[in-house]
Amino acid sequence: MLENALKILQNYYGYQTFRAGQEKIIRSILEGSDTFTIMPTGGGKSICYQIPALLLKGVTLVISPLISLMKDQVDSLNNMGLPATYINSSLDYQEVKLRLRKAKNGEFKLIYVAPERLESGRFCELLKFLDISLLAVDEAHCVSQWGHDFRPSYRSISSLIKKLPARPIVAAFTATATAEVKEDVIKLLSLRNPNVYISGFNRENLFFSVVRGENKNDFMMNYVQENKDRSGIIYAATRKEVDRLYKILQEKGYSAGRYHAGLSDEERKKSQEAFIYDDLNIMVATNAFGMGIDKSNVRYVVHYNLPKNMEAYYQEAGRAGRDGEPSECILLFEPKDIMIQKFLIEQTSLSPERKINEYKKLQAMVDYCHTQSCLRKFILEYFGEDDVPDECNNCSSCNDDSELVDITIEAQKIFSCIVRMKEGYGSSLIAQVLKGSKSKKVTEQGFQMLSTYGIMDEYTLKEIKDIINVLIADNYLYLTEGQYPVIKLRKKAVHVLKNKEKVFQRVRKKKEKIPQDDTLFEMLKRLRKDISDREGVPPYIIFHDSTLREMSEYCPTDKEALLKLKGVGEAKLNRYGDAFIDLIKKYVEEKGINRVKKPAMKVSNKSKDDKIPSHVITYNMYHQGKSLQEIAEEREIKISTVQDHLIRCSNEGLFVNFDDFITKEQESLILDAIEKIGAQKLKPIKEALPEEVDYFTIKAVLCKHKSET
Ligand code: ADP
Repeated sequence: MLENALKILQNYYGYQTFRAGQEKIIRSILEGSDTFTIMPTGGGKSICYQIPALLLKGVTLVISPLISLMKDQVDSLNNMGLPATYINSSLDYQEVKLRLRKAKNGEFKLIYVAPERLESGRFCELLKFLDISLLAVDEAHCVSQWGHDFRPSYRSISSLIKKLPARPIVAAFTATATAEVKEDVIKLLSLRNPNVYISGFNRENLFFSVVRGENKNDFMMNYVQENKDRSGIIYAATRKEVDRLYKILQEKGYSAGRYHAGLSDEERKKSQEAFIYDDLNIMVATNAFGMGIDKSNVRYVVHYNLPKNMEAYYQEAGRAGRDGEPSECILLFEPKDIMIQKFLIEQTSLSPERKINEYKKLQAMVDYCHTQSCLRKFILEYFGEDDVPDECNNCSSCNDDSELVDITIEAQKIFSCIVRMKEGYGSSLIAQVLKGSKSKKVTEQGFQMLSTYGIMDEYTLKEIKDIINVLIADNYLYLTEGQYPVIKLRKKAVHVLKNKEKVFQRVRKKKEKIPQDDTLFEMLKRLRKDISDREGVPPYIIFHDSTLREMSEYCPTDKEALLKLKGVGEAKLNRYGDAFIDLIKKYVEEKGINRVKKPAMKVSNKSKDDKIPSHVITYNMYHQGKSLQEIAEEREIKISTVQDHLIRCSNEGLFVNFDDFITKEQESLILDAIEKIGAQKLKPIKEALPEEVDYFTIKAVLCKHKSET
């Protein structure tokens, strides 16, 4: 059974092997068990229900919360040659009926449905006429009030299951792992003794870093400058902050968009699309942005502010590098941001018990920002994994190459100034006093008389404030709570003032970028963008960055070589292969390059169709219970063509029940003949058998027993 699943993975998706966990989940669904999967964002959940959908007899309904996400998934499937469609509020009733009719006729194996549809009795009535084998619930945590995206319409799923004439297999997927959510999903979706799979939370290609005590604006500007040709998301905590950062980036001429709940639907949609289509490189956004964004080539996610908890952080950061290419997740920590999050918790209408829970989670987030140990270990242990290695060598703690600079003198000056100002002010005024400012605020209080007045006049105000921030981040100072926070000393600072302890600041060495020749990669990206504009699908749906990267590395100049690359399946090969091969050929000839070809790995099939291949349409009709004769008539093709289609589907890994076509006697006759003659050639087998046994029956027996012959 799984052999067929693997063939689909290779032939249609263009991937060689399943990722950890995928195989077990697919097996569980194919065996007919309800299945509950927790897998991190980017872990590869979609394949876990899409492949069973193709292998099971009837249609699969996928409940998916966002219109943009479903369109994306359906585009992606169609582009691979797989028959899928969606139903949501963007369609009128006639179109909905038409799509359902087509599904009934076997033209679609997957239908993506928005949960709100299930609230309509009329719609559920229509669903009863479909043969639904599998109900896949994406983002299943939306059913739970404990989850962070509660959607009341998810509650209609369980009543739909009850209404259907035959109960389908139910498979639920989420990236949210808390115990409450897990229990809720199982109960509220009425899963029956589900197999539960919690897959590893590690995302190896992501580099995690926490930046503490650095000026965040400077850091961000430097970073976007160094990465200006790459796609990235910058998350900020509030709409105001998003607007501010967006304005700065715009003014400096960066290709940036913004997204938050305060903008009109129109503006949000526009900037989201521009980002998805690679027309914008940077998206500055609140956490309103991202659920259901499938863009695979996000190369970095910067958190300009502290997120509310590790769950939110990992989900947002996880939007980087879905294509498996190295990507960065950077959190810019500033203690002030803890206040914002506390304020936001206070603003909610949560019960006191839940508020305490939120505070605890926030504290873990803050601990993450302070840990000196491996960041990946911290994350994985937070999500309940055991036996995590102490070092990952792919985070800012493990790869720390910063230098320690002694700032004891500066720290002493700052601490003593704060003491003299009676620990009653914020960093702006403290910095002004140290700088020796003549501002009204300073003179009004008589601070020009203090002995610390002007003792740091060689620094700019901004530099002084930055050092104060380092001292807060490293727990020498703390900010009081409330509307007007002031800075106070911790015990540690007193030791420093008494010369008992030194203070060091970590200064990151500038990373030297290894120059890489990206000429061909950039040319391939431009070609992909042209095709994307022409076809109206996002660039990453045509090919992932990782596939373009392999193309630029291996320079395939024929279809066979191209098919061997990751992410190239038959349909995409036929659709886009020539254009990419032409470009690579030209480039290679011009430069006189001859690259090593990737070793042969993939099974190759010839297909001349694009969109949904003809044999797959036949296959779906067969699964609707139509006879070969009926399919031939309806499709106006020869019956032998229908037969060939089924044989081909079987060879590609799709399940065909050949017992529908062969009698037991014929089967044993054919097997006897094969044993005598061998299975290499069909003609001698045919000649050894009675006249009425046709070629199709022989091929069908060969397919059925292919692992033995
Ligand atoms: P999720 O829904 O869990 O966030 P997706 O299903 O969108 O993740 O998968 C994330 C990315 O990983 C996609 O680009 C997908 O094509 C890729 N992917 C999934 N499974 C495999 C696999 N077995 N081999 C290689 N890439 C895979």
